[in-house]
Amino acid sequence: MRAKTKLIHAGIVGDEATGAVSTPIYQVSTYKQEAVGKFKGYEYSRTGNPTRNALEVLISELEGGVAGFAFASGMAATSSVMMLFSKGDHVILTDDVYGGTYRVMTKVLNRFGIEATFVDTSDLSNVEAAILENTKAIFLETPTNPLLKITDIQEIAKLAKENGLLTIVDNTFITPYFQQPIALGADIVVHSATKYLGGHSDVVAGLVVVNSEQLATDVHFVQNSVGAVLGPQDSWLLMRGIKTLGLRMEEHNLNAQRIAEFLDNHEAVGKVYYPGLANHPGHELMKKQTTGFGGMISFDVGSEAKADELLSKLRYFTLAESLGAVESLISVPARMTHASIPRERRLELGITDGLVRISVGIEDVEDLLEDLAQGLA
Ligand SMILES: *Cc1c(COP(=O)(O)O)cnc(C)c1O
Repeated sequence: MRAKTKLIHAGIVGDEATGAVSTPIYQVSTYKQEAVGKFKGYEYSRTGNPTRNALEVLISELEGGVAGFAFASGMAATSSVMMLFSKGDHVILTDDVYGGTYRVMTKVLNRFGIEATFVDTSDLSNVEAAILENTKAIFLETPTNPLLKITDIQEIAKLAKENGLLTIVDNTFITPYFQQPIALGADIVVHSATKYLGGHSDVVAGLVVVNSEQLATDVHFVQNSVGAVLGPQDSWLLMRGIKTLGLRMEEHNLNAQRIAEFLDNHEAVGKVYYPGLANHPGHELMKKQTTGFGGMISFDVGSEAKADELLSKLRYFTLAESLGAVESLISVPARMTHASIPRERRLELGITDGLVRISVGIEDVEDLLEDLAQGLA
């Protein structure tokens, strides 16, 4: 099955009992047992729900894994994966990882004795040097947020295997439509499905896919024990969003390439970060491990004041957190998504006060270009 067909035909399609073409929303908490312990695969909806299950099978097939799991948010998914580890274990993470991931590692899970080190994973030697006796996993984000740094998943997975570590990839920014980390050697994929997978700014959700039966058992144990599961309504909405993922990603990609080239040639714009630009340091690597460059662009306008001026003039770019939806969104990472990272550390990473991030939507690109041109003038 080719990628776009898979989005429509993978997973559990429709309903056997009625012939319904769309998977029904099983708005149910508990299931009748014929005798004690004798039931038809479902006993209680925290443990398993048919609508959620259809989504879980779908994402597992899209990522080429063994099993999938749906959570109440991307952070619930990431936290639940981190609960595979124990007090005294150590995890290496990408340095400009999503702000919420940085926060949960340094303010919550550290209190339970799970240690974290943040390094620039786009350079393998940094990762090698960070491996300790108690290291259990390497957690990557590629492309990163908001600087779009690219890490070689295959190289990291090889290093991880040599050292008996798990490779975990946050695939939110590029989605399985363009990048499949498990085929590149990763063990676990996590998603904020709130972004491209949902795609319409109408659902908060997280997904996990694993590459082995053992990990499937372990993640399901945490999912059922901790209970941060996705409800049936939201599971259904997410499946509806995923059907058009291919069409949307193609359009995000085309629009973003045009806009990145425009920004790169604009005199009011400093550095432009987009992996589809030939001058981006991760361009060749991105071509090797993905089939598209995605819809996220960051660029520097020089100062907080200039960023604010641009924001006030734009018509089609909505000022909002989040990304990956049909409508174009704009944000200032330093004061929004990455505000939980201390300023000094932000500047170290290159997240300046004048850095603006756009999530390019699927509007007509000519309108978006005109809007940016008048905003920057
Ligand atoms: C948004 C996001 C998350 C967190 O997901 P939520 O659904 O907001 O909890 C994690 N990783 C990345 C890359 C994100 O963009």
